[in-house]
Amino acid sequence: MLSFWEKDSYYAHTDVIIIGAGLMGLWSALELKKHRPSLSITILERNSTPLGASTRNAGFACFGSLTELLSDEAQMGTQAMLNILEARYKGIQKIKSYFSETTIQYDPCGGYEAIPHSHETAAHLDDHIHYLNQLLSPITNLDKTFTNRSAQMQEIGLKNFDHLVGNVLEAGIHSGKLVNALTKLVIENGVRILYGLEVKEWDSNSNSVQVETQNGITLKANQLISCVNGFTQQLMPSLNIAPARGQIIVTNAFERLPMKGTFHFDEGFYYWRSLGNRILIGGARNLDFEGEETTDLFGTEKIRTHLLHFLREHIVTEESIEIEQYWSGIMGFTPSKKPLTEWVAHNTIAAIACNGMGVALTPVIAENLAKMVTANL
Ligand SMILES: Cc1cc2nc3c(=O)[nH]c(=O)nc-3n(C[C@H](O)[C@H](O)[C@H](O)COP(=O)(O)OP(=O)(O)OC[C@H]3O[C@@H](n4cnc5c(N)ncnc54)[C@H](O)[C@@H]3O)c2cc1C
Repeated sequence: MLSFWEKDSYYAHTDVIIIGAGLMGLWSALELKKHRPSLSITILERNSTPLGASTRNAGFACFGSLTELLSDEAQMGTQAMLNILEARYKGIQKIKSYFSETTIQYDPCGGYEAIPHSHETAAHLDDHIHYLNQLLSPITNLDKTFTNRSAQMQEIGLKNFDHLVGNVLEAGIHSGKLVNALTKLVIENGVRILYGLEVKEWDSNSNSVQVETQNGITLKANQLISCVNGFTQQLMPSLNIAPARGQIIVTNAFERLPMKGTFHFDEGFYYWRSLGNRILIGGARNLDFEGEETTDLFGTEKIRTHLLHFLREHIVTEESIEIEQYWSGIMGFTPSKKPLTEWVAHNTIAAIACNGMGVALTPVIAENLAKMVTANL
């Protein structure tokens, strides 16, 4: 039984309840407070720290790689692809406006994408680079976001790839420090975060919305925002969000770091970066799409070993490459690959599915979400 004091403070009725204290939940709370400082907001997080994607990702600012953008354009059309790209660009600027580069270890190291001969863009790579550079220029104010760096492959530290495209706007970020800094800011803005409360179910009625937690606590609010991303299926099955596990390994420390920067291959299915004097690599979900469509955080030997062999095949070094650490995170994917902000009841909205690129996108999606929610309060 809760005490009167607890009911009247921690678990008191609030204007807004947000489920999930990952990047989406945190940016949403901050934007709501910016729009309407008087709002009372409680974030409910099931774990003692966020446990989904935000602190378990690869730490790329995620501006977007050449083949990924061209594939997005083919799938969703030019304007939709540009809209998402602009949101990513603005999102990165926004993160930098809130936090110093030191606080979140933002490293504007640039990025590269390795492209095989067999890829459809390879035959006319320079034309594709030119095309995208022109398309992106009004957003980035740069003539050359992408450049052909194939000739420098060896000196960049890579081998056994056919082509290499440089991307001056990609950057590395420390995901743990970003979420910590953002959490601190959210709390400073008067938002309450309750950790260790897993929402089991929610119920919307004409006056309010009620959530029940696994440990039997009931909380009420005027509005509910779900930011549980890859775990949406459990709470809001109608939204059709597919979970997707991303597995990551980190190597031993190198005496001489073979490469520096962020790297992509295979339309973003493989991603690796320098991490101090180690290499972090993640992905290879396309090796077992079915098996990786899960919210289970235990990864597989098969994918970890594959990622290790990938590094051994493609990194120029005389030193041995071994796995020292590994973990998994869970992403949420919409069928269209577009982020989704959708009302599921008159006072309940979901903001989810940044489709594996939420670092840059969540700050911008949160702006729109805050407008929608405050207009409804
Ligand atoms: C391996 C991997 C690598 C990635 N690499 C990058 C990258 O380099 N750059 C990039 O931009 N993006 C990357 N992403 C994607 C990015 O991390 C996500 O898009 C972003 O973090 C999504 O944030 P979110 O807040 O929506 O979700 P999450 O961070 O998953 O937050 C959801 C939160 O909800 C909580 N929760 C779930 N269910 C409940 C419940 N019932 N009750 C209470 N709480 C609940 C979870 O514990 C979690 O903390 C990667 C993702 C993964 C998995």
